[in-house]
Amino acid sequence: MHLRIISSLGKNIRHLYSLGLCLLGLTLFAAYGGRGLTTLPASTWGWIAAMSAAALILIVFAFQLPPQGNGLTLDSAAYLAAIFVFGTSFTLLALLCSSVLSLFVERRGAPWRHIINFSVYSIMITASSFLFTALGGRQGPLLGSHLGAYVAAMGVYFLLNLLLVGLYHYIVHREKLFDTLKGMLTDAVLAYLCTLVLSLVLTTLLYYNHMLGLLLFLCLSIFISYSFKRLFSMYRGIEDRANRDQRTGLFNHSYFETALEEEMRKSQQGAGYPLSLAMIDIDNFKRYNDHFGHLKGDGLIVFLADLLRRATEDTGMVLSRYGGEEFTLLMPGYDTAAAGQFMENLRRTLNNSPFEGVEILPQGCLSFSAGIAGYRPDIHSKSELVEHADQALYYAKRQGKNMVHIYGNQSQLERELDFSQDVRDIEQQLSLFMYKDMDTFKHSKRVYRYALDMSERLGLDNLSKRQFSLGALIHDIGKLEIPWGILNKKDKLTPDEWDMVKWHVTWGKEMALTGEKFKELAPFIELHHERYDGKGYPYGFKGEEIPRLCRMLTIIDSFDAMTSERPYQRTKSVAEAISELRSCAGSQFDPQLTELFIRYIEERELFRTAAERIS
Ligand code: GH3
Ligand code: MG
Ligand code: MG
Repeated sequence: MHLRIISSLGKNIRHLYSLGLCLLGLTLFAAYGGRGLTTLPASTWGWIAAMSAAALILIVFAFQLPPQGNGLTLDSAAYLAAIFVFGTSFTLLALLCSSVLSLFVERRGAPWRHIINFSVYSIMITASSFLFTALGGRQGPLLGSHLGAYVAAMGVYFLLNLLLVGLYHYIVHREKLFDTLKGMLTDAVLAYLCTLVLSLVLTTLLYYNHMLGLLLFLCLSIFISYSFKRLFSMYRGIEDRANRDQRTGLFNHSYFETALEEEMRKSQQGAGYPLSLAMIDIDNFKRYNDHFGHLKGDGLIVFLADLLRRATEDTGMVLSRYGGEEFTLLMPGYDTAAAGQFMENLRRTLNNSPFEGVEILPQGCLSFSAGIAGYRPDIHSKSELVEHADQALYYAKRQGKNMVHIYGNQSQLERELDFSQDVRDIEQQLSLFMYKDMDTFKHSKRVYRYALDMSERLGLDNLSKRQFSLGALIHDIGKLEIPWGILNKKDKLTPDEWDMVKWHVTWGKEMALTGEKFKELAPFIELHHERYDGKGYPYGFKGEEIPRLCRMLTIIDSFDAMTSERPYQRTKSVAEAISELRSCAGSQFDPQLTELFIRYIEERELFRTAAERIS
């Protein structure tokens, strides 16, 4: 078995590496294989022909192994057995004949590919053969007393194969060498071991049963290869079924989740590489369903799926059926503006596509609404990105449907957004603090008011303003879980008690995630104790890894804690608190946001003293 280089050539470094391999391989062949050309008796040439034909047959009947369908060939078993029975020169000549023959059988790919493969084999065969002889191995029957020599020869053959092909992938694909080798090892090690054992079996068959032994071995290998091929195509079929939606043939929800995670990871690593997510929902589909029945409704879903598939072919986008009549389009390389343009074109195309019965729809044509969200480094979970796209979709629907809306773009509807009911709902929950910890209750309300003011200063759109202020109001909700005795303790907390207090961010996040309504506020609860220098908790996120508004909340939260009465510390004056904020800017706090907040406090103080003077 042998890991074969299949891809085509390109860059300089690859050429250099390939050239080096060829020079070494051909030199070894000339030194140890070439001499056999004149010294080997005529009868041996019949065997060389048989072994090279066998190797070729084993290449043609390669094993395909999941997950990527790597080409693993059993020909190495033939070469190793040839080393053990016939020696170096014989094996190298069989390799030469088999390589020449393969030029005619495997015509795809350039001739250089054959030369490189020949060279890699030549290096492996020579090294393995030398080690075998050096460790006392003798050509002929399989000898149990020399098992060490067989194992060492097979080991070096295997390691060289792994190393030479691994280096090639490392140079060509810029994959990490360790990861590449690890991946190859886990993919191929079992099958490789199988080949190595088979080479010992073939050694015995060759020695005692000659051509009949070789024939038996070939039959067995062909059957196994055929079974593997069947297994592999079954695996492909099952994989496909697990990842696809049966009705539309698009990817399904679960595949979408996996792809989203993968694409977010790529965007995170290639900083600045844009990624957008579009969420698409057919407008007034229920009406179409009710009027024409579910069967026709299904037809409409398939029609849109086909249209989307055709439009996204060869774009690198991942199109999935999210559920019902909703689709998602994952757009790597697209920022929200480009994604918006793309979706807008699609929307118009759908509007102009004739379809039976569309006259009963309010728009008189097929239409969808779409919400788009762009990935940013401060988005840490895929559900957050989906949530943004979903909210944008919700706004598009509310604005009258047949529309594409980008999350965060100011719109009429966002401006009109009223969140007083949400404030009342959260206040209701916070009122539990009134008997447990009055300080936290008052603190939350003050932080909320600061957040409202800062929303204006930061020029936030209404959606962000809503989230920021509600987030500020709810940020300490997890403290409800802290025992009364610790919350109201007059003395300094012990380290264990501190550890318990720190848990409030996680408990609070869990509380927010239990309901649909305040899910999007979870980052404010969970991340308001992160520090700009990465020394905060619970994750130790640093700088821009922490969402901007969470960084702002940390400043407000700390300022209020300094300037209000707390059982365990002296209350600071506003001036003292400002200087404390300044001294911690850059370490605990975002310096720019700190200055912004200080300016706001200073202006507020000026205004207050002026007002006091007047009164
Ligand atoms: P809107 O414009 O606000 O999206 O309204 P809508 O009428 O499209 O309604 P909504 O999205 O809330 O509901 C979609 C309906 O689609 C609900 C369900 O009966 C129907 N539906 C979901 N999946 C399928 C499906 O696979 N086939 C059919 N025929 N109908 C489906
Ligand atoms: Mg729907
Ligand atoms: Mg719908």
